[in-house]
Amino acid sequence: MTHQPTVALVVSTIEDEYENNLLRGVQAVLQAAGVQVLCVVSGGLNIPYQPNAHGNILHRLLQPPLVDALILSGALRHSTSPDGLKQFWQQLPPIPMVGIALDELDIPYLMAEGYQGMYTAVTHLIVHHKRRALLFLRGPVGQKEAEERFRAYRDALRDQGVPYDPTLVIEGDYSYPSGQQAMAAYLMTGHPFDAVVCANDTMALAVLQVLRQQGVQVPQDVSIVGFDDSEGGRYENPPLTTVRQSSYEQGQQVAGLVLALLAGEPVPAYTPARTRLVLRRSCGCGERDVAESMYASVKRPYVAGPLAAQQPIITAALSEALGHFPQENAQAWANLLFTGLLAETEGECGRFLGSLDQVLQQASNFEGDVAIWNQALSVLREWSLPWLEGALLRELWPLARQQVGEHMERIQAMRRIATERRARLLRLFSDELIGCLTLPEVLKVVNRRLPDLGIRRAFIALYEQAEEPMTWARLVLAFTENGRVPLPGEGVRFWAPHLLPARLSPFATEQTVVVEALYTQEVQLGFAVFTISPAESSVCDGLRTLISSSLRTLMLIETQRRMSDDIMTREKARREREALIRELEAKNAELERFTYTVSHDLKSPLITIRGFLGMLERDISAGNLAQVAHNIAHIRQAANTMQELLQDLLNLSRVGRVENAPAWIRFADLVQEAMQRVAAQIAERGVTIQVEPDLPMVYGDRLRLVEVLQNLLDNGVKFMGAQPHPHIEIGVRQEGTEQIFFVRDNGIGVEEAYHKKIFGLFERLNTEVEGTGIGLALVKRIVELHNGRIWVESTGSGQGSTFCFTLNSAPPVRAPQDTSSFP
Ligand code: ADP
Repeated sequence: MTHQPTVALVVSTIEDEYENNLLRGVQAVLQAAGVQVLCVVSGGLNIPYQPNAHGNILHRLLQPPLVDALILSGALRHSTSPDGLKQFWQQLPPIPMVGIALDELDIPYLMAEGYQGMYTAVTHLIVHHKRRALLFLRGPVGQKEAEERFRAYRDALRDQGVPYDPTLVIEGDYSYPSGQQAMAAYLMTGHPFDAVVCANDTMALAVLQVLRQQGVQVPQDVSIVGFDDSEGGRYENPPLTTVRQSSYEQGQQVAGLVLALLAGEPVPAYTPARTRLVLRRSCGCGERDVAESMYASVKRPYVAGPLAAQQPIITAALSEALGHFPQENAQAWANLLFTGLLAETEGECGRFLGSLDQVLQQASNFEGDVAIWNQALSVLREWSLPWLEGALLRELWPLARQQVGEHMERIQAMRRIATERRARLLRLFSDELIGCLTLPEVLKVVNRRLPDLGIRRAFIALYEQAEEPMTWARLVLAFTENGRVPLPGEGVRFWAPHLLPARLSPFATEQTVVVEALYTQEVQLGFAVFTISPAESSVCDGLRTLISSSLRTLMLIETQRRMSDDIMTREKARREREALIRELEAKNAELERFTYTVSHDLKSPLITIRGFLGMLERDISAGNLAQVAHNIAHIRQAANTMQELLQDLLNLSRVGRVENAPAWIRFADLVQEAMQRVAAQIAERGVTIQVEPDLPMVYGDRLRLVEVLQNLLDNGVKFMGAQPHPHIEIGVRQEGTEQIFFVRDNGIGVEEAYHKKIFGLFERLNTEVEGTGIGLALVKRIVELHNGRIWVESTGSGQGSTFCFTLNSAPPVRAPQDTSSFP
């Protein structure tokens, strides 16, 4: 496969008419030559680089092998100094390149031919409107363009035999006030004049205003001609006759230059871009009939014979009049119009208006106004006049002009409808984008909406690191005529200056490829590549803004999410820390109490022992043997108490440390085991025990749970008081989703004030009954290790007590029904 060359057209925007038409002209010529066009929309040059010149990043794409040659739009320079422009140019690679109106650079350039336009305008005033005293409002002395236009004015006077009068030359600087001032000053001199030729439209509009104020009638008393075909001039009253440059045509011309450079052919350093006179009413051309144009004055080299024989001459003049359009079209249309007219003269009624309709239809893809068509009609009429019969002459032209007017109106309406449709689609697109909260959502909307806007292929690439734009990027969206190209979630990584990853191409026949930078005010995001027909391409700038802003929204959401995540993590950590501190404080307090009570409680048997040892000593030396046995019994009793205390303490300290593997256990089995352990006490006190049938399975540490029940049973027996019918009941009740196990006795009961206290270490209410005050503390700890709670229910002294507890350590699996162990 041979390499298909690519030419990059660098523009500041494609939203405005001038640069958009430039692109269309370039595309038309290069496409026909099999050269690909890459339109790089970089914004105006912002050199030295300003922080907000995000679009300028795209200049880094202007390198081989992606790009083989460059066309630089003149609009790039509007935002920079001549030095800035040079600096930009020096950074470009040494590849073929042409510029438009960039005459400061050392590259071939195209520039509107000011001389020719001005010469034609002045000639028109003299020849057609018989003006003789033509005031010339020139541009600044020494300025290249201004001098050229001035020279054209003098040459035209000379060629038409009008003597040059230096007092008729006044000067402005292209600005509106300078035009006003110069005109007002000249009026003060009282010298007569019958036309004002201005070096640009802005000054011409100022002149028009001053003359109107002075009661001078334009164009009856004075003709005015401007230069540039500005929008303001078109809608003035009277509309301004002016000299216009066609950016479409400039695009074509400049594309021709770049093709020559690519072929290794030499091109001139300067190529003039054609300009043409647009006749409107300010010069004196009638509204209904702008004609009797300058072409009429040119000597007609008619050949002898009928109208048919004049075809080459007349169509040449006519295609000249239609020179605003691409040359091949202008020629084809000139032929069509001529043959139509010829047929009409030969009696085929309606043929001329038919061809006019056809031509207008074809021309509707190009910009153009009524003035151009009326001018063309005038040329045709003037040149074929000798062969046209009176009646035909009278009827045909007004009808033709009417047709042109109606056609233009229709075009305007169609354009308006198209613009409205596009605005509607863009609004829809933007509405949908607003709702997107993630990148995949945004891409989905882009993928769905862009084809409606005429985009055939679209690619969106995001830089991997915003701080290093135009280095590594990830292609996150690609769609072509065949639908969305599947890409991995994180996109396809590629070197951004290559435009796209290998094997993907944006280039398609009859389409133009537009690159737009995606950025927010602060940061470079990436770029978008759109493949679209040149006629619809102006939408790309708007898409850039919409997509950029929705990506920006995503970034904001992301930052916010990260921030709130951060806050949440920190808050959670804080809460955990605080809980930990509280737990630690509680443990500390418990430890303190523990140390205090341990030393206190351990001390009392020691004191007892020491006391009885003293007595023992005394009794032995006194030979009081009966007392000796008594003392020894007391000492043994105290030692036993101490051992019990130490055993309980050891037991307590083990809870939470020693872990027996948890398992599913029948609660009834636990009860049986506990009852066996306290069987002696139960029997001794004669307590009746009632165990509920159908007790459930529980999950936990079997030995520890037996300990719980053992302690509760033991306490129940111990604290029966004088109850004549001691009775203990063991069972379970359901409260909501919770199973509450209980051990109920009809003993002495617990005053409400002590309901909490008794679960503390060494808390004993009743010192007459044996005990260490550790039992309930141990029970509480075991229950808590099973994620449960324990409490006592008792209405007070003599009312019996019910010790209740829950267990919540079961894994989130349904308990097997009535099997003794969990597989
Ligand atoms: P002890 O070793 O004294 O039994 P516990 O921690 O088991 O220590 O009990 C603490 C205190 O709670 C007991 O001294 C007693 O006053 C009270 N108590 C425990 N169980 C009962 C009960 N079933 N009926 C009445 N009071 C009880």
